[in-house]
Amino acid sequence: MILEVKDIYTAYGLSQILFGVSLKVNAGEVVSLLGRNGAGKTTTLRSIMGLTPPRSGSIKFKGEEIAGKPPYQIARIGIGSVPEDRRIFPDLTVWENLDVAIKSSREGGPSWTMERVFELFPALEPLQNRQGGFLSGGEQQMLTIARALMGNPELLLLDEPSEGLAPVVVSHLGQQISKLREEGMTILLCEQNFRFSLDLSDRLYILEKGEVRYEGSMAEFLKDEDSWRPYLTV
Ligand code: ATP
Repeated sequence: MILEVKDIYTAYGLSQILFGVSLKVNAGEVVSLLGRNGAGKTTTLRSIMGLTPPRSGSIKFKGEEIAGKPPYQIARIGIGSVPEDRRIFPDLTVWENLDVAIKSSREGGPSWTMERVFELFPALEPLQNRQGGFLSGGEQQMLTIARALMGNPELLLLDEPSEGLAPVVVSHLGQQISKLREEGMTILLCEQNFRFSLDLSDRLYILEKGEVRYEGSMAEFLKDEDSWRPYLTV
C-alpha cells in the first residue's frame, strides 16, 4: 500500500470539514474520490499534502507517518500534486515552467524527462516557447500535470482536472491519464464529474459532508450506480 489515510479530522479554524475520513491507495492504482461540490475532496488532498494538516488521525505514505509534516517535505518524499486552480507561471514559457520543476528522482523511483513528458502530451511540444498565460485551459491542465511529473512523484494527487474544460478536451485528457495509469503511475483523482473518472479508476470513494459514504471497485459500483447518484453530480 502506498497511501493509507486513517480516520482524519480536518478543520479550517472553527469549521470542521472532515469527520473521520479513511482511504487507501495501492501502488499502481487509480483511485477516485467523488462527491458533490463542498463534500471535502479538496480538503482531503490538502490534508495529505500538509497544506491543512488534520487535527487527528494518521496519514501514511509507504508506511511512514506524514500527517503534520510540512508540505515541502511531503512533496520531497514523492507525492506530487495538481491543484484545482492550475498554478502555472503565466510569464514563463512552457519549457521554463517544466524546467523549474525538475527534481532528481529518488533511488528506484520514476524518472521523468522533458522528452518523456512531451511523449505523453505531444500537444505541448510545439508550444515550448509559448508563455503559460497564453495557453488554452486544456493546455494549461496538461502543463500542470506535466510539471508535477517533472518532480518524479510516486503518487499523483489530481484535483478536478476536468473542471472547466470543453467535452472534447476532457476526453483527450482522460486518454492521457489512462496512459499514465498504463505506465504504472499511482493516482488519487478528485472529481465532481463521475463520468470522467469512470473509465480511469480501479476503485472509488464517495464523500459526503466530510464522511466516506461508499467504498468499492468500479465494477461493484456500476451494479448499484442508481442508489448512489444523489451523492454525485452527473
Ligand atoms: P469543490 O469541488 O468545491 O472543491 P470539495 O469536495 O473539494 O468541493 P472542499 O473544497 O474540500 O470541497 O470544501 C469542503 C468545505 O470546506 C466547503 O464547505 C468549503 O466551503 C469549506 N472550506 C474550504 N476551504 C475553506 C477555508 N479556507 N476556510 C473555511 N472553509 C473552507
